[in-house]
Amino acid sequence: MDDLIITNARIVDGTGAPWFLADMAIANGRIAAIGRIAPAQGKRAIDATGLVVAPGFIDMMGQTATPFLENPNSAFNLLSQGITTINAGEGGSSAPLAGEQATRAGWSTMRQLFAKLDSAGMPMNMVQTVGHTQLREIVIGDKDRQATPEELEPQIHSTGFFRAKSKALIGMATALVQAHGGSVPADMDALTALPGVGRKTANVVLGHALGVPGLPVDRHVLRVSNRLGLAEGEDAEKVEGRLCSLLPAERWTRASDCLILHGRRVCKPKPLCDTCLVREHCLFFRTADAQQARAARGAGKAGTAGRAGTPGKTAAASKAGKAGPAGKAGARLMKPGKKR
Ligand code: SF4
Repeated sequence: MDDLIITNARIVDGTGAPWFLADMAIANGRIAAIGRIAPAQGKRAIDATGLVVAPGFIDMMGQTATPFLENPNSAFNLLSQGITTINAGEGGSSAPLAGEQATRAGWSTMRQLFAKLDSAGMPMNMVQTVGHTQLREIVIGDKDRQATPEELEPQIHSTGFFRAKSKALIGMATALVQAHGGSVPADMDALTALPGVGRKTANVVLGHALGVPGLPVDRHVLRVSNRLGLAEGEDAEKVEGRLCSLLPAERWTRASDCLILHGRRVCKPKPLCDTCLVREHCLFFRTADAQQARAARGAGKAGTAGRAGTPGKTAAASKAGKAGPAGKAGARLMKPGKKR
């Protein structure tokens, strides 16, 4: 049972998408589910008809969180305005620090700063922006030279494949300076010619950084677009082409974002169809639903043939892809549980 159910709310999810009507379940201080949720599922219920439920606001010019080390209550003026996250750091950052500055502050790494804020009772979320000059000075000082791959590797160690990535990053930055005068080209061919840059990354850069329509296709976009019946197959470039042909260019990047978020939160490898707001439009769900109804009729249980819940949990759904027109449609659907 959840702690709280907020029903009939206009939910603004913070992605920039228009509001939508839904219920929300809160458990252990976190959003547990968004969708159609019975009030009885929670210990408490609030009817939010006519009201907006939105994530906390972000103060993009939050400057610094270090005052909260001294007095966490000083965050009250922000919290009382609905600000739950600050973006700290501008010209200078509170971390990382080195040398005398680190000794004076009492921390060196970002992890150490966050640990201090946590133990002081930091009452809100913080994102710390770090200026590139600060990082450069810590790694190579004031010398006018390139960083070596060995100096770069520790900076990106946690991302995995750090050795190959550090070489690619230096190659990419060098190519940007030498071939493009230090500017990032707003062109797919030029971007994918850069070391370490593939089509997905190029589309992210085009769509999110350069304002040029681009539709990044990752494993979530592949899975969700196949299940919805918008595209077919696992070839990312073909799926990108198909999705682009369905939408006006100005919606490509936002569509990719929506499919990625839906794939992460609802249409996971094991899909949460019970809470999915687009199930009426979903080829996979319709196929599973129809097959379950047929199976129930065949077993003389027509009266119990209801909506399929989570296709991954039904025998009929697991057989999607076999015999009959629905099966034909199902044959190209990704099976629940399959990872990309
Ligand atoms: S109904 Fe299920 S399979 Fe279809 S999009 Fe929603 S979660 Fe995914």
